[in-house]
Amino acid sequence: MRLSRYFLPVLKENPADAQIVSHRYMLRAGMIRQQAAGIYSWLPLGFRVLKRIEEIVHQEQVRAGHIPLLMPTLQPADLWRESGRYDDYGQEMLRIKDRHERDMLYGPTNEEMITDIFRSHVSSYKDLPLTLYHIQWKFRDELRPRFGVMRGREFLMKDGYNFDIDKEAALHAYNRHMVSYLRTYERMGLTAIPMRAASGPIGGDNTHEFLVLANTGESEVFYDDRVTALKLGSREIDYDDRGQVAEVCKEFTTLYARTDETHDEAAFGQIPEAHRKVGRGIEVGQIFYFSTKYSEPMGAVVVNDKGERVPVHMGSHGIGVSRLLGAIIEASHDDKGIIWPEGVTPFPVGIVNLKQGDSAADAACEGLYKALKARGLEALYDDRDERAGAKFATMDLIGLPWRITVGPRGLSNGVVELTSRRTGESEEMSPEAAVDRVAQIYEGR
Ligand code: ATP
Ligand code: MG
Repeated sequence: MRLSRYFLPVLKENPADAQIVSHRYMLRAGMIRQQAAGIYSWLPLGFRVLKRIEEIVHQEQVRAGHIPLLMPTLQPADLWRESGRYDDYGQEMLRIKDRHERDMLYGPTNEEMITDIFRSHVSSYKDLPLTLYHIQWKFRDELRPRFGVMRGREFLMKDGYNFDIDKEAALHAYNRHMVSYLRTYERMGLTAIPMRAASGPIGGDNTHEFLVLANTGESEVFYDDRVTALKLGSREIDYDDRGQVAEVCKEFTTLYARTDETHDEAAFGQIPEAHRKVGRGIEVGQIFYFSTKYSEPMGAVVVNDKGERVPVHMGSHGIGVSRLLGAIIEASHDDKGIIWPEGVTPFPVGIVNLKQGDSAADAACEGLYKALKARGLEALYDDRDERAGAKFATMDLIGLPWRITVGPRGLSNGVVELTSRRTGESEEMSPEAAVDRVAQIYEGR
């Protein structure tokens, strides 16, 4: 993408109403625009990151054996009357009437609708296990929408639902979600810690929230800091292997890690003092096993292998896709701007032409741009007629992990400069070597 032809409305001034750094940088980098309280347009740069995050979420869900579909944003109220949640949900639910005076709502979540789909099409244990998920916009009329996309009213969520014949199978589905979520967050450059949580209006006993540590987080968290060193890494996971998946979950949930809702002072006190930490965290996901809470009242039953009709065991599992942009920025930035992890960056690399109009510099930039494209990498090429300082400031603000700087002086020695946004370190090399290096960094992502 050539910056001269792109739409990147960066702001010079700090937006006065943005209280936390991720909100400030998302506005300044021209990623989002607020259209009403807690409702945003996703401008091109923000949209690219959002799509990238969605893609990673999809890939890891499919890898775990879960099946994507798409349910609508608007739902009939009658489904929610069946589960009893239409009245329970309260003012967070946006209620709408259509022209026939029928009660509708903008879905805050989809347990009822997925249960309806299930009961209409599945009637035998032979069709289980089944996990369906979608990535769709939700609406919750939050009392205090704030912090930009972190607590929006309209927000993008991945929500998945498992249907299983018994508790044991459903707990395997729960564990599968935990492991696939760990991998999802790691690919985004995040450490998200599973913490035992309280269940709230969705119901159920088994539930974990995934928290990214950040001072600006809304949840108070209590943890053994050795939990932050745990990594899934590149180990192979066989998602059908109940034993292996359960082992991984145990590894990640044995050390103490809880939110204030489930905090147990006595157990916390057992942690060696040097490792005992209190902090704040951002909830980026939550998983639940809730047994037959929806399947019973809504008649989601199957015939089991003994010929009996039994309600299925269910769970639901959410990832805050749009909130993740804020969480990643909170975890990865400096005073100049965002520092995108390679896994989610909107462009893999930026090209800065120090002297636009200089024929050698222009030709070298074009060459780099094309060579990167041929390797499957779309660079953001700053081809504007601007001062070098302004170009660097924009690149630093929008946070591409790598920058190639091209100028007449270097070119006379046959070199360009490759700079890491994270460390600030630069290295001179030939344009070909720079392309190779960048291609290597992104291999397999
Ligand atoms: P919170 O406690 O932050 O209000 P929640 O527990 O009500 O969230 P869930 O029902 O667990 O939310 O939804 C799954 C995920 O969706 C959450 O873990 C979070 O990442 C994201 N999410 C929830 N509410 C919002 C919101 N208002 N704006 C953006 N993301 C949200
Ligand atoms: Mg939650």
